[in-house]
Amino acid sequence: MLGGPRAVTGPGAPAWPVTTPEDEEAVLGVIRSGHLTSMSRGGSEVQALEREWAAYVGVDDCVGVSNGTAALTLALAAVGVGPGDEVLVPALGFIATAVAPLREGATPVFVDVDPVTFNIDPAAAVQHISPRTRALLVVHLHGLPADMAALRALALAHDLSVVEDAAQAHGATWRGRRAGSLGDIGTFSLNPTKNLASCGEGGLVTTDRSELGDAVRRRRQFGESLDDGRQRRYVSEVVGWNEKMSPVQAAYTRSQLRRFDAAAAARDANVRRFHDRIGGLPGVTVPSVPQDATHAWHILRYRFDPAPLGYDDVPPPAFRRAVQRALVAEGVPLTHYQLLPLPAQPAFALDRNGSNGSGSSEYPQAAAVIEETATLQKVHLAPEARPALDTYADAFEKVWENAAHVVKYARQVPYVPPWAAI
Ligand SMILES: *Cc1c(COP(=O)(O)O)cnc(C)c1O
Repeated sequence: MLGGPRAVTGPGAPAWPVTTPEDEEAVLGVIRSGHLTSMSRGGSEVQALEREWAAYVGVDDCVGVSNGTAALTLALAAVGVGPGDEVLVPALGFIATAVAPLREGATPVFVDVDPVTFNIDPAAAVQHISPRTRALLVVHLHGLPADMAALRALALAHDLSVVEDAAQAHGATWRGRRAGSLGDIGTFSLNPTKNLASCGEGGLVTTDRSELGDAVRRRRQFGESLDDGRQRRYVSEVVGWNEKMSPVQAAYTRSQLRRFDAAAAARDANVRRFHDRIGGLPGVTVPSVPQDATHAWHILRYRFDPAPLGYDDVPPPAFRRAVQRALVAEGVPLTHYQLLPLPAQPAFALDRNGSNGSGSSEYPQAAAVIEETATLQKVHLAPEARPALDTYADAFEKVWENAAHVVKYARQVPYVPPWAAI
C-alpha cells in the first residue's frame, strides 16, 4: 500500500474446480454414449448422481435440476408455496434465495441475521411471522448450518415448511446429519464456484418425503410424470417448465464426488491452520463453529475491529476498509460478498428512486456484517491451497505489525458504506 514489496509472491491460489483426466473421461463417456438427455433410456448419469447424492446426504430422494436457483423455486413449489404466501428469507445472502419466492408468486419477508454465524436469527424470524407465512427458507450461509433446533421449533409452532438452501453447504453437518436432510426439502447448487462442481450449471433437490420429490420431478419436466421404461405420454398434470440437468454435467459431478470427502478434509485442515494463525491477531475474528456443527468452508468471512489494537476511536467499518485495502495491496484477494442487505437490492425497490425503505436501518446486523467484514472466495477451495493460505497469513501478520499506518489511512480517507458506492 505504501510502495514496498508485496507479502504474497509465487504462483498464487490453485484453480477451482480441479479437473482430472478421470473427470474428462467421464464427460467424454457421456458424449460418446449418445445418452445426452436426462431421460435417456438405460438410466442416465443424472439418475446415478441422484442416487449417490441422496445416499451421501442421508435422504430417501434426490432430484437433479438445471441449477441452484431452479432447485429453490421447485422446492418452494413442492411444499405448496404460491401466490399470496410469505416466505421468511435471511437479509444477508445471495440474490437467488430472495427471488425464488417471487417466481412462485410469493413474497420474500426479510429477517436480520446473527452477527456471529451470519445465518438467519431465529429470534428475529418470530417477529416477521404473519397469518400468510408459509415457509422458512433457511440458508446455511458460507457453509455453516443454521440454528436448526430453534428454526425447526419455530416452524413446528407456526406450521411452516422448512426449505434449506444448502448451495454453500455441501457435506456440512448439524448434530451428525448433513445439510439438505435437516428440513422438509433441501437444495444445492453445482455451479463450478461451489464446493461440489459441475462443468457448467446444475442443482440438486433432496428430501425424505417422496411426494415432494415427485412434485419436483414433474415440474422440472413440463409438469409430466415420466415412468421409467414407459412411453412418454405428453400429458402435463401441473404447470411446469424445463429445468432438467444435463447428463454431461452430472457425469462430471459424479467424478468430482469421488474426491469430495478427501477435498473437504484437506480444505478443513488448510483453513483451520490459516485461522490458527490469523485468529490470534487482535481485532481479527475468524468464523467460529458451534460444537454440534461442521463447516463446509465455502466462503471465509472475517470481521475486523480496531478496539483490541487500542484504537477505540476508529469506527470498525473504516478500519475494515483500510485493512482490506492494505491486504489487497499485499496480494491477499479479499473481496466483498454482497454490497448491501438483500432487501436493499435495487431490484426490490418500490419507487423510481431505488428506495424501498429497507436499507441498512431495518437490518442492522446484516448491514454491520457488510460494513465490518471481508471475505475470501474460491482461493481456499482446492486441496493444494495450503501454500497460498500460508502466504496470506504472512501478509496478515505484516499488516498487523504496521497497524499504525492502516489506522492512519482509516482516519484520513473519508468512509462511505459499500452500498453507497454502487
Ligand atoms: C449459488 C447460490 C444459489 C444459486 O445457485 P445457482 O446454481 O447459481 O443458480 C442459491 N443460493 C445460494 C446461497 C447460493 O450461494
